Amino acid sequence: MNKINFQYYKTKIGELILGSFDKKLCLLDFRYRKMRTTVDNRIRNGLNAEFIEQDDKILEKTREQIDEYLNGGRNKFDIPLLMVGTDFQKNVWNALMKVPYGATSTYLQLAKDINNEKAVRAVASANGANSIGLIIPCHRIIGSDGELVGYGGGLAVKKRLLKLEKNNNAMSDDEKYEFIGSRDTRYDGLFITAVKTTGVYCLPSCRAKKPNRENVIFYESKEEAMTNGYRACKICKP
Ligand SMILES: [Zn+2]
Repeated sequence: MNKINFQYYKTKIGELILGSFDKKLCLLDFRYRKMRTTVDNRIRNGLNAEFIEQDDKILEKTREQIDEYLNGGRNKFDIPLLMVGTDFQKNVWNALMKVPYGATSTYLQLAKDINNEKAVRAVASANGANSIGLIIPCHRIIGSDGELVGYGGGLAVKKRLLKLEKNNNAMSDDEKYEFIGSRDTRYDGLFITAVKTTGVYCLPSCRAKKPNRENVIFYESKEEAMTNGYRACKICKP
């Protein structure tokens, strides 16, 4: 019988379950989540294998990298992965892996990334079925309105991970300025652009004409922009 080695691992974001098969990581997930049995069964059936509580080098390396990541000392994982799922799910997970550290995306954007704009619901469901958390960064997906949406590890953990990445990935104001005008939605939710001459605040992806550098001020949140007297842009509706 084929074997999936697994170990539980306690971390500051909760207890995880890690699994490896054929020297690749196939499972990195929260031990206690509603979909635990569903996910485990999918992996077991997909690999035609049984779970055995046993350690190995891949699991050891994964634990090290998780610790480094959670301490802010790592922004990329270097572990061979084995994704177990349908071709559609794998497409979504591969697209997810392209969302950079410190950035966020949405289900709609992911659907566009896999050239299947109408499949937003299926994309959301594939995102929820992700069994290699942190490395396949489903925590970087937020709602189109900037709200956090569900997470296997709970919303508090998701918020904590996004904050960790954001703090660790602070862009300089000049880098932010370079980025705006590209209409790229990756940093929506990470900072707000306010324009002194118009009194309006925007999402980084706003398609309005790019303001001059000296007229732009950056805030962390729309609340902060509002506190400073700015009002929401009618084009990007932040
Ligand atoms: Zn705008």
